Amino acid sequence: MELDSHGVEQQVSTGALPGWDAVEHHVLVAHERSREHADGVVADYIPILATVDPELFGVCVAEVDGEVHAAGDADVSFSIQSISKAFVYALVCGRLGHEVVRERIGVNNTGLAFNSVVAIELNDGHPMNPMVNAGAIATTALMPGDTAEEQWQAVRDGLSRFAGRPLALDTVVYESEAATNQRNRAIARLLESYGRIELDPLAVVDVYTKQCALLVTARDLAIMGATLADGGINPVTGEQVVSPEVCRDTLAVMASTGLYERSGEWLFEIGLPGKSGVAGGIVTIAPGKGGIGVFSPRLDPAGNSVRGQRATAYLSRALGLNTFASAMHQPRATEKESS
Ligand code: GLN
Repeated sequence: MELDSHGVEQQVSTGALPGWDAVEHHVLVAHERSREHADGVVADYIPILATVDPELFGVCVAEVDGEVHAAGDADVSFSIQSISKAFVYALVCGRLGHEVVRERIGVNNTGLAFNSVVAIELNDGHPMNPMVNAGAIATTALMPGDTAEEQWQAVRDGLSRFAGRPLALDTVVYESEAATNQRNRAIARLLESYGRIELDPLAVVDVYTKQCALLVTARDLAIMGATLADGGINPVTGEQVVSPEVCRDTLAVMASTGLYERSGEWLFEIGLPGKSGVAGGIVTIAPGKGGIGVFSPRLDPAGNSVRGQRATAYLSRALGLNTFASAMHQPRATEKESS
């Protein structure tokens, strides 16, 4: 076994999913039970997102052995949006390593909205974490490539390897956001003023805007999540996309801040690392077990899919995924004999 960057043999702490039939059954039940909930509103600050059918709803679980279970609109495409942040971060972690990304990007929750400018000002220009826009833009700036075009290709290729298929850009979503993303441009300029972005900030925002407009399905998200659950090996293609250490670091940041200022509630209800996007997707990872991808466009006030959270909460409970859940200690054989 390899030593990690702290010189310690990394051990794992995971169980297994229940059998195939149980997972298949619970994915169908998660979809059925959550479908009746129509609360939340579709995002409209990116104009094109407001035109989506709000009733779309897909649920998918991908196991680390490559088995996939889907219900509802699991093959309908939508833009990945902020979920891309987790995977671009993983790629950058692989490139720069644990210490550098902790110092340059950060790992702490801001407690503020994903597009907060105040969070940057309150923290002396530090982007704080890679799951909010400031940290995500600073992270995209660290992707390999001599030009913005090369960085964009590196983002697209990397995310496609997580999904196990070539991901396409939705040019309509990209153009809609590019025409209305003054706030993200302001965030990038502010980071530049603090010396946190060394490249042309507007070119970096353009790459970031494209990365958010990559098209995925709930099935893709489940497989991307299962790759992070499987020590970085895509369970469908068998490709090693990132290292186990990168997966661990990425999941830690997702757990602390993947659902923005609702991350505490998410962890309390679901007990797993996850990442949401404003088009209505959420990816969730059960380390060593698999990934969950959900899609439903109505959002809570923080920008997280309402049905998606419900379906994931059900699956976490029904499949025994919550990383904080434990059963009472069973005495070992030797202890039993001596008592
Ligand atoms: N592209 C979106 C933005 O930067 C992503 C936000 C999100 O999904 N929360 O505003």
